[in-house]
Amino acid sequence: MVLKVKVRLKVSQNQIAWLFRRGRGLTGLKNLGNTCYMNSIIQCLNNTAILVAYFRNGQYLEHVNRSASTRGAIAEEVAAVVRALWSGQYRFIATRDLRNEVGKQQRAFRGCEQQDSHEFLTILMDWLHLDLQFRADAPPHKDSLAPSEKAWYEYTKSKESLILRLFYGQIKSTVRCTVCSKQSVTYESFSNLSLELPANANRCSLSDCLKLYLSGETIPGWNCPNCKDKRDAVKKLDISKLPPVLVIHFKRFYVDPKEYQANAYRKKQTYIDFPLEGLDMRQVAPACPGAAAYELYAVSNHYGSMEGGHYTAYCKSSLYGKWYKYDDHVVTEIPASDVKSSAAYILFYSSCGPARAS
Ligand SMILES: [Zn+2]
Repeated sequence: MVLKVKVRLKVSQNQIAWLFRRGRGLTGLKNLGNTCYMNSIIQCLNNTAILVAYFRNGQYLEHVNRSASTRGAIAEEVAAVVRALWSGQYRFIATRDLRNEVGKQQRAFRGCEQQDSHEFLTILMDWLHLDLQFRADAPPHKDSLAPSEKAWYEYTKSKESLILRLFYGQIKSTVRCTVCSKQSVTYESFSNLSLELPANANRCSLSDCLKLYLSGETIPGWNCPNCKDKRDAVKKLDISKLPPVLVIHFKRFYVDPKEYQANAYRKKQTYIDFPLEGLDMRQVAPACPGAAAYELYAVSNHYGSMEGGHYTAYCKSSLYGKWYKYDDHVVTEIPASDVKSSAAYILFYSSCGPARAS
């Protein structure tokens, strides 16, 4: 009996040493020919603790939606990748099946050309939301709902997903006629906030970008339903629903106005200061319930230009509590002081607290 235990222990010690070398969730992703944009996003999602638990414990299987346009296939491939990344068995893996499935759904992601990680993330969120659905209870008194809640219900139609509940928020857009002051309010859902950077600034802060986003803009020639004429209007955005996981994208790429015809993209290398802890959304979204403090846990970085660029991810492991750099197949520990850089392209903030993936 003692011997048995000893033998067992020996094996498990070896296993522990072996796991430690690779580290669970510290698995790289092979570059399959300019797939670093995809790898960067997968690693950010793979460090979203609640999502990882959902895929690893098999709960997602109850929600796979075969009637979605993607027939649940994207969700199944993402689940397989997450499980492999957390198995501790591999130093790095290749995501050929996921990539094939993604390529089947969207031609742009099929080839070997560099793509935009933000575009990939946005479309992946929509696919995963459609692929993993469950029915939520309809609100008991639809008529007594606040306008934003009503719009949210009309958007979801009680078809929800963990993706929706984690990542999707809502924006209220108010367009006001500058002549008669007639207001038109619409609501839109988002899976990430896409923020402009202040013009001609070498440095700015996330709070500057949020203020700019929410500051309002003039729309010339708005068809005012009251004046029944084209008027100048002011469009103002407000966040009406904040998700538990807030994803923020910086619009670093823009079409060069001087080379508009050539559709040449330029990149803003602005250094953006953002908090690693304590992003307080109560100031920017005072109307939102539960707009508590957010903690940064992942960053998708972009280096170089639009055509010849490279993506990496910086993620904080919920298991080890440290930051790691995911550069395709190579994963290395980095100090938290390295996380802020002018390469930061998409930020992943969580208000869920330190939910630990085990
Ligand atoms: Zn008007």
